[in-house]
Amino acid sequence: MISKAKGFNYVKAHVIWIQRWKNGAWEEGHLDSNDQFTISGLSTSLHYGQEAFEGLKAYRRKDGRINLFRVQDNARRFQTSCEYMMMPTIPVEDFIAAVKKTVIANQDFVPPYGNKESLYIRPFMIGVGDNLGLRPAPEFIFSIIVSSVGSYFNGDVKPVDMSVSDYDRAAPHGTGHVKVGGNYAASLKAQVKARREGYADCIFLDPTTHTKIEEAGAANFFGITKNHQYITPKSPSILNSITNRSLKYLAKNFLNIEVIEGEIYIDKLDDLIEAGACGTAATITPIGSITYQNKKHIFPASEEMGHYTKKLNELLTGIQYGDLKDPDGWITTL
Ligand SMILES: *Cc1c(COP(=O)(O)O)cnc(C)c1O
Repeated sequence: MISKAKGFNYVKAHVIWIQRWKNGAWEEGHLDSNDQFTISGLSTSLHYGQEAFEGLKAYRRKDGRINLFRVQDNARRFQTSCEYMMMPTIPVEDFIAAVKKTVIANQDFVPPYGNKESLYIRPFMIGVGDNLGLRPAPEFIFSIIVSSVGSYFNGDVKPVDMSVSDYDRAAPHGTGHVKVGGNYAASLKAQVKARREGYADCIFLDPTTHTKIEEAGAANFFGITKNHQYITPKSPSILNSITNRSLKYLAKNFLNIEVIEGEIYIDKLDDLIEAGACGTAATITPIGSITYQNKKHIFPASEEMGHYTKKLNELLTGIQYGDLKDPDGWITTL
């Protein structure tokens, strides 16, 4: 087994998946050892950001086999994102089959059980082909690239500090709810600024009123209220995180606490006893403090992961690595 995960940095694996859409139809896809590809300099993905992506992980179980987590949900969300970007969709079954083939061909790169590493899987679609004016591309490439990864934020259990960004990541009725490249290009400035100032990442407020928390960098935000409820924001410009969806389920059905999708006002952080960021890449990252307008709000759980966050993290990772029973058809074992 080749394990050389280096935080969240790319480690080239054996092969990538490549599939082309030409003349109105998908061609047969194939695995290719070359992870560099040549596309037209006039590709819409390069000029106009016609692109969508997904992110999921393969986890090594104790028995050596490999688990995929909620791959069907990534397949469906990818369809939503591609449709919004005026790109062809990939049937759910074909998406899953391509992910499986890519992971199996790269199974040496799924890190061993036991140290919270995994194989990150990045399916994506780009508009390619010769094109000048603003219009959907004449051709597309669907590809899947994988990489062994460790933790996304350095030191994954210590709560991190975040600061509120002055910038928005998405417009109120724009593309915030779909996983498309443009959102991330537009958030780089805010992220780099936060990191330069010593924060792990930035918090984005709602783009309409700038009073409520929306996202924690490229992850969803959740909190535990004083009344021991799991709370996460609801807004049309938030990306519907599969990790967050799973935590809501686990909070309700395993921790038996109330789940609220509602408003988290940035000036009412006293209502929260724990806060965190969640996503496939970030897994569950506890947030110890949020700095807003030069004032640092420190959560009660700021030195180590809070009680509920810890429980949710244990449940989620236990299911992902196959140590706990799959509660709801989330796991595909290869
Ligand atoms: C991908 C992503 C998430 C996390 O989604 P998961 O399905 O849990 O990986 C959250 N917020 C943004 C902006 C994202 O791009």
